[in-house]
Amino acid sequence: MCIPLRFLCFCLFLAAASKCLCADPPVILIDPGHGGSGVAGSLAERSNSSPNNASSPGGLKEKDLTLEFSFILHEEILKAATRQGRLLGVMMTRQADENLDFIARAKACNRPDTACVVSIHFNATDGAKASGSLAVIAAKDRNPDYEVDRSFALGLVTACSKGVREFLPDSKDMGTIHDSHLHGGLGSNFFFQLQRQPHLKGKPKCFLEIEFIDNPAVERALLGGDRAAKFRTIAASIADYLVAAIEEPARQRTGAR
Ligand SMILES: [Zn+2]
Repeated sequence: MCIPLRFLCFCLFLAAASKCLCADPPVILIDPGHGGSGVAGSLAERSNSSPNNASSPGGLKEKDLTLEFSFILHEEILKAATRQGRLLGVMMTRQADENLDFIARAKACNRPDTACVVSIHFNATDGAKASGSLAVIAAKDRNPDYEVDRSFALGLVTACSKGVREFLPDSKDMGTIHDSHLHGGLGSNFFFQLQRQPHLKGKPKCFLEIEFIDNPAVERALLGGDRAAKFRTIAASIADYLVAAIEEPARQRTGAR
């Protein structure tokens, strides 16, 4: 079922901090990649989002795992905010098995209180032997926020990798890559649409590829057994980083210390 974007605003949860009276709490935007059963948007508008890319050997689909992981990450960010005594919000671009085009996803992210945008994905590659976590950011030559994105994404991948290595000790922290391999060098259409949103200038944005799910070893270690508990461990590590990473702008706005 499709949930209109205006209703998603009511899915904003705030973690109360004991002393902070922030009037304008920052909001972390989580975008669960892909979804639904058909392509959304068009190549002509640079808005096309594919319903699914990666699949595991056992048939688990990236689009379902991104949503599952994002719900858990949402919860873990609020827990981390409480632990760190922070007031902040979390919002997801989708909460059901639906595919939103990149214009709709970017507009959902375009809020004056947006602190960062993280698009959750699972990876695949030729040979199905890769293992590691990585982030994708817009290439330097067309990204005015390149340094902001790179610094944010490097910390995010390290936090993700730390959680993944609890279950896959050999999983690599692969750092960041640029999006120049996409669309004949034009880069990600999601980044293209995000960069057109006025409230997102200067705000960190990246794709986070949790692991390569086409690798049978990754599937066994990460997706089998109590997957929700494994995702929660990884999400908790990411959440601690995210809440700390957006700490300074919020305190500057409120003057709280
Ligand atoms: Zn993907």
